[in-house]
Amino acid sequence: LRKKKLDIDQLLQDILNGNKTALSRGITLIESKNVKHNDQVNTLIEGCLPHANQSVRIGITGVPGVGKSTFIEAFGNYLIEKHGKKVAVLAVDPTSSVSHGSILGDKTRMEELVKQEDAFIRPTASGDSLGGVAQKTRESIILCEAAGFDTILIETVGVGQSETMVHSMTDFFLLLKLAGAGDELQGIKRGIMEMADSIVINKADGENKRPAERAKSEFRKALHLYPIKNSEWKPKVLLSSALHNQGIDEIWKMIESYVSSTQANNYFYDNRKEQNKFWLLQTINEHLKSNFYNQPKIKIALQQQLTAIENNKTTPFEAASYLLNKAKEL
Ligand code: GDP
Repeated sequence: LRKKKLDIDQLLQDILNGNKTALSRGITLIESKNVKHNDQVNTLIEGCLPHANQSVRIGITGVPGVGKSTFIEAFGNYLIEKHGKKVAVLAVDPTSSVSHGSILGDKTRMEELVKQEDAFIRPTASGDSLGGVAQKTRESIILCEAAGFDTILIETVGVGQSETMVHSMTDFFLLLKLAGAGDELQGIKRGIMEMADSIVINKADGENKRPAERAKSEFRKALHLYPIKNSEWKPKVLLSSALHNQGIDEIWKMIESYVSSTQANNYFYDNRKEQNKFWLLQTINEHLKSNFYNQPKIKIALQQQLTAIENNKTTPFEAASYLLNKAKEL
């Protein structure tokens, strides 16, 4: 026991010293499904918390192929080279909890950024549920910040609930889009438009330049119809060519301006407090859920009840109350 305690203290020290290998090990510990590691994880997070928070957390979303990894590569390199930032890249991948093949993890990504001393790129966590995966990402942010990373980029794919999760752990939410055949707003979920602090139309190069300009004005008009955000920030529409490093500087200046205006009106800090409350509840929910479903006796009883429903032998409500009562007895 003593030895384990020493190890975790050492790991914490190494993380606080900015050691990336230690940071990786710390995140692996967070992602561990072994409940025996819970105490160590808590020690680690508690030790990191006083050194966290000094960062800008940016969520980046968009459909597969829109250019997320190309953009993050360009943006990350720009931040490091032009502004001396330390950039951590994390991801919440909704597919990683369903299948092993994840949308975000499969390709060779961000080849240049990976080589930077001041970049830390972590492949997606996998887990039993999106909520679980997202919670681990939330905790990983704390470790990255404690290790001195001041710009945290959190990538997610534009499917399912993952945007909401990423939105609830970031300060600024950026939606990457492509110019389409004209009707840009079709197929875009209202909720996502509402979350976006900026829409960036990527691949605004070559033949795509004019359609991108058109898309830009269409999105601008559409955004005017939304109610004013609590942050008082008016979402901006910009163009980029991640492949040719265009538009990157303007995007960063916009984010800087967002940060200074929301810090001035306190929204930045209030929002983080609200997010912390959300994550407290989320953590409890995840904990209760995984405790319940991971009980061997519940696993068996659940299968029996599912069969009973299949055979019309019980109702969902009766089965649920039976299982919940059974869990209380365990
Ligand atoms: P992701 O699935 O959203 O991560 O998209 P990727 O970054 O993998 O990009 C998908 C494809 O689009 C790749 O072939 C990129 O080279 C290409 N791409 C990304 N950004 C741009 C851009 O700004 N302009 C052009 N022309 N191609 C781009």
